[in-house]
Amino acid sequence: MSRIEVEAVTVARGGRAIVNEVNLELEGGQLVALIGPNGAGKSTLLSVLAGLLRPDGGTARLDGTALPAFDRRELARVRAYLPQNPRAEWPVSVERLVALGLLPQLPAFGGLPEAMRARVATALEAADLTAHRDQPATTLSGGELARAMLARALVGDPAVLLVDEPLAGLDPRHALDGMIRLRALADQGKLVVASLHDLTLAARYATQVAVMSDGKLVASGPTAQTLTPALLRQVFEVEACVAGAGTATATVDFVPRSPL
Ligand code: ADP
Ligand code: MG
Repeated sequence: MSRIEVEAVTVARGGRAIVNEVNLELEGGQLVALIGPNGAGKSTLLSVLAGLLRPDGGTARLDGTALPAFDRRELARVRAYLPQNPRAEWPVSVERLVALGLLPQLPAFGGLPEAMRARVATALEAADLTAHRDQPATTLSGGELARAMLARALVGDPAVLLVDEPLAGLDPRHALDGMIRLRALADQGKLVVASLHDLTLAARYATQVAVMSDGKLVASGPTAQTLTPALLRQVFEVEACVAGAGTATATVDFVPRSPL
């Protein structure tokens, strides 16, 4: 099973540490919800974990190998990374966009092997996009595009999946579907790290929660123990009500500190 070890990782930008001495250990079987306010450093940390950003201090290792030293093709096979707000840059069909997720496994020449076509079809179906398969990806709605991009990240069946706000803009059914699929992958032994703002979904489906604030990792651990009203109040600066964290019917709600 895959393992990521983060030791004293620091990323400095604009004269400050936007990721500040973060220590974290993650392993296969976990669905880790990375939460925290805007600007906390979640996306920056995820790009370090993805091996796309070399930290200014500390080390991040995947299965014992420092991420910047990983063979690029091997890394692309082992982990998928979905950036925040991904865009379709040119008008390929939705089916081809999803098939791009198989690129690291593709033979260098020739058509798409039959087994890969079947995987693309399965990924499209799971994302509820079969009816859109021939549509130019540039014409999808925001939520449909987000589902297509998640399908592209999942189609290669990576051991490690790093997804940055994968549910942003999804309607309730598709957000639930997406989160349930991420949890199912963790239950199969994959390591899934997802930055999320929907804390109810995090409370229901994440096995672990990692909480960032102002570049620092302020808490991490099993969802039921970590996602407490006191912590959410401290980090998000609003009153939080948490019910049943770590169970299938959990809810997290926020109320303003002073009435209107
Ligand atoms: P999050 O994903 O938690 O919202 P980010 O990781 O995207 O946060 O960003 C963390 C902080 O770092 C933000 O305040 C952002 O404005 C800042 N930041 C990111 N890149 C740079 C940069 N190149 N120069 C200055 N500040 C940056
Ligand atoms: Mg972000």
